[in-house]
Amino acid sequence: MKFPRSGISREEIFQTLAEYRRQDGDWKHGKTWSLVYYAGEEITRLVKDVYGEFFHTNGLNPFVFRSLKQLETETLSMVADLFHGDDQTVGSLTSGGSESILMAVKTYRDEARALRPEITQPEMIAPVSVHAAFEKAAHYFGVKMVHAPLKEDFTVDTAAVERLITPNTILLVGSAPQYPQGVMDPIAALSALALKHRLRLHVDACLGGFSIPFIKELGGSIPDFDFSLAGVTSISADLHKYAFAAKGVSALLYRDTQLRQYQYFSYGDWPGGLFISPSATGTRPGGAIASAWAALKFIGREGYLEITRTVLAATRQLLDGIRAIPELFILGNPPAGVFAFGSDLLNVHALADILESKGWKIDQQSNPDCLHFMVTPAHTGVAAEFLAQLRQSVEELKANPQTVTESVALYGMSAAIPDRSLADQFIRTVYGRFMTEGGEFSFEGLGI
Ligand SMILES: *Cc1c(COP(=O)(O)O)cnc(C)c1O
Repeated sequence: MKFPRSGISREEIFQTLAEYRRQDGDWKHGKTWSLVYYAGEEITRLVKDVYGEFFHTNGLNPFVFRSLKQLETETLSMVADLFHGDDQTVGSLTSGGSESILMAVKTYRDEARALRPEITQPEMIAPVSVHAAFEKAAHYFGVKMVHAPLKEDFTVDTAAVERLITPNTILLVGSAPQYPQGVMDPIAALSALALKHRLRLHVDACLGGFSIPFIKELGGSIPDFDFSLAGVTSISADLHKYAFAAKGVSALLYRDTQLRQYQYFSYGDWPGGLFISPSATGTRPGGAIASAWAALKFIGREGYLEITRTVLAATRQLLDGIRAIPELFILGNPPAGVFAFGSDLLNVHALADILESKGWKIDQQSNPDCLHFMVTPAHTGVAAEFLAQLRQSVEELKANPQTVTESVALYGMSAAIPDRSLADQFIRTVYGRFMTEGGEFSFEGLGI
């Protein structure tokens, strides 16, 4: 497309966008099982209106936009309160879970550089199930990732974590819950290890930060995961997920102020002035910050409890329905609205493609092969319909179990490459082609 010579009308803009959007997953009616967290029109309208009010503001300079500083501080202290922090708890709002995680890893790397200079190759120990953003952080910041294995129930094996600790270890990580199977790592045991070995412990509650505390409050038997455990030194929690803020906002909290200084970046010699930036981005959209504050204030504890009840009811319906299908099983014991199912008899990637042909957008996983679901209030009305179509899809696949669909080929291909760096390159090639050519995915010319 060429750069436009003259502008087009507002009507044409919206007409074209509506046309483009016909290609998208239908999240509003619960057909999409990830990426969008929708709790109804009332909350959406509020969050959008607030975002609009702060549309042009920029959190990069809190001296100019003091309202954003106030909104950020108040949001962080509300979240700290939810996670049993105290008046020492500090943090930052970031653009999302990945940035929170990147900043946490950078903070601990820089703290180790300052306080443990004998370490030349810092290491973090994280479960293999940890979010890929930690792999990205390891890659960006030169911290060695040491993977801890999982137990049968997909939670991290803490005895293995202890065996993996070396003089170079700076950080332990656990998730509450982890993304792939939605199960809670044993944070209390990790906290004890962190205290015993004088290590830092980050809890990734990006996904569960605004559901796990409410499930606990509703009487769910979920062990502690937050600052109530003495070994937990930081927590990430995404406001743009189960807190229902606008996209682009996550909270990163530290147990004490001492740690946060290692997150900040400053440069006093810039011809552009004394430079300081709290996190990875420069410009920080004020709308996202304000939307986070507004979502917490508007929904409140009672609202979140109600939403959590709705999500748990839909999840229960889905889990029961899936467990009743003999060919399928749920992985581990997921306590919240996040879970995965697998099969010993059928190729779940083929099953995903059949469901996609019926209009669902399904997330696929490997190691082990399974399909992944995140339940939101948008799914309440579709659980029964989904289960009916799932049962039908299982029957269709059983009639033709060897069907090689696109996903069967893609996941099979990736798994078959023995050199994992070549597998990573394969994924980049496929993605790069999709992004530039835009059309349908194909294997042609990939040399495989
Ligand atoms: C979503 C998620 C992240 C990353 O968050 P983004 O906002 O997508 O960058 C990290 N950890 C967990 C457990 C998540 O679910």
